[in-house]
Amino acid sequence: MLLTCDPHDKEGGMKLIEDLTTNADQFQQQILNEIVTQNADTEYLAGFLDGHSDKEMFKKKVPIVNYDDIKPYIERIANGDPSSIISNQPISELLTSSGTSGGQPKMMPTTAEDLDRKTFLYNLLVPVMNKYVDGLDQGKGMYLLFIKPEINTPSGLTARPVLTSYYKSSNFRKRPFNKFNIYTSPDDTILCSDGKQSMYCQLLCGLIQRDEVLRVGAVFASAFLRAIKFLEDHWKELCSNIRLGIVSDWITDSNCRRAVMDILRHPNSQLANLIESECIENSWEGIIKRLWPRTKYVEVIVTGSMAQYIPMLEFYSGGLPLVSTMYASSECYFGINLKPLSKPSDVSYTLLPNMAYFEFLPVEKNHGEVNQSVQCNGNSDNFSKDEEEPVDLANVKVGQYYELVVTTLTGLYRYRVGDILMVTGFYNNAPQFRFIHRRNVVLSIDTDKTNEDDLLNAITQAKSHLESLGCILTEYTSSPDTSSIPGHYVLFWELKMIGSGDISDLNTAVMEECCKTVEESLDYVYRRCRSKDKSIGPLEIRVVKHGTFDALMDFCVSQGSSVNQYKTPRCIKCDETMNILDERVVGRYFSRKDPFWKPYTMET
Ligand code: AMP
Repeated sequence: MLLTCDPHDKEGGMKLIEDLTTNADQFQQQILNEIVTQNADTEYLAGFLDGHSDKEMFKKKVPIVNYDDIKPYIERIANGDPSSIISNQPISELLTSSGTSGGQPKMMPTTAEDLDRKTFLYNLLVPVMNKYVDGLDQGKGMYLLFIKPEINTPSGLTARPVLTSYYKSSNFRKRPFNKFNIYTSPDDTILCSDGKQSMYCQLLCGLIQRDEVLRVGAVFASAFLRAIKFLEDHWKELCSNIRLGIVSDWITDSNCRRAVMDILRHPNSQLANLIESECIENSWEGIIKRLWPRTKYVEVIVTGSMAQYIPMLEFYSGGLPLVSTMYASSECYFGINLKPLSKPSDVSYTLLPNMAYFEFLPVEKNHGEVNQSVQCNGNSDNFSKDEEEPVDLANVKVGQYYELVVTTLTGLYRYRVGDILMVTGFYNNAPQFRFIHRRNVVLSIDTDKTNEDDLLNAITQAKSHLESLGCILTEYTSSPDTSSIPGHYVLFWELKMIGSGDISDLNTAVMEECCKTVEESLDYVYRRCRSKDKSIGPLEIRVVKHGTFDALMDFCVSQGSSVNQYKTPRCIKCDETMNILDERVVGRYFSRKDPFWKPYTMET
């Protein structure tokens, strides 16, 4: 089921949305039927369905799975087995997810046809945005978009992140040059594999065309803030380039240079002076509106873990609406926000019933304790999976929490995405969901997703260094620090001296070694963000004085946590609990070296 949408046709687009949402269940049944009949003969499904190809058998026999269950099939394809082991359509490439398995990125199968499905969703966003914001055809979007490294699998398939795959596809590069998708960034600057050159050139082009910019953005809030930081560090050089009409020598990518020169064309000291006069101000409050005065909104995802960046975005944007348009993943693009101007805390996504077959595993909050423990524990898992059966899209209940399970047209069957969603209401017959959190994830600064086990493992590796200091680790927790850009992980460690000695006077080199070992032990995506993308800053360990974790427990219990069931929260996000820890810090240590990272290969 492949639908098309003409982004120019506002009425047609809105009609499509009405149709998809009114007939959500019919679309879902149809897509399931299509997937099962077309793929019943694949090795994977045949193993469960034994020749049957009806929906009922599918739900009865095909298990709900995690990545580790399907990993052997994905690896076989990467190593040269035919796509038909999981899909009747050829697997065209593998999409490396920011989720990891055994420290390496998960790889999701995709097909050529799926690019058109993604394009459909992107096109559908246009009429929705035009419904709420007028005049978007009167200017350009300054979207800062980037590609990431890719590899070839032994079978010759390309494995790369989903957005890299999309930006490199002809669907993106040959998109119709229509008035709603004119960007300030030439494609060559987006497709430049050197992240620093790409960022510099995109900002330069955005500044030169400042009078035409009507909207700005990046995919995630973290990437947009990184661009602002980059601008803070490079505005003098950017202004000098504009003043002289030349591009800095260190921009060596010839396609980038050519694309920027096409826009820069001649020296423009007036524009350089104008930009300089804004950037030189002490405060950068409202800098977006000052540099790009016609901007109507900032398009970045600020739901989920990205919500931590809202205050900083509000500061820089000067109160412009923050718009989260879509909810998507490497597995599948899920849905769109039908009310793009709603407050970040009110954003709900409507899953489009033609993208995949969706099921929902009900999850319960634990023992009614959730309110307080959510506040104390950040987003650690306060949800437990019931033994209940999954429900269909049309049968979810308002107010209930679910884990999303997808069956795609690209070879995933009843796959647990790991996202916990809450139903906020219905649009026609299609439920709308608030993104609550990703299962188990405790820390996330950029696209990294560190869960409790990853954290425990990394800390276990690092704490062996403490022996030389004559102390042991008695308790720990963590917190993302996003007060500066890039953000970084903070670990709070309570230590106990075995013999004599003072925890406020620890050997700095040993503690820095602990920071380094934690970083080296975290997964591939963390290390890439930290060492290559520089989107995460050096990890910090804050040593707290004896009794700090008792004080933390006392506080949580005073707020309603049960003493019997109290577990030290492994991530702290609320201000009150942070204060309890921060007031008791006796030493702060930072990682001094980037952790080892090299592009993922199938052998590593
Ligand atoms: P990846 O597999 O690396 O593409 O990451 C996909 C994941 O990013 C999703 O499963 C979500 O956990 C998260 N994500 C994607 N879009 C959103 C969104 N709009 N709001 C919150 N989280 C999101």
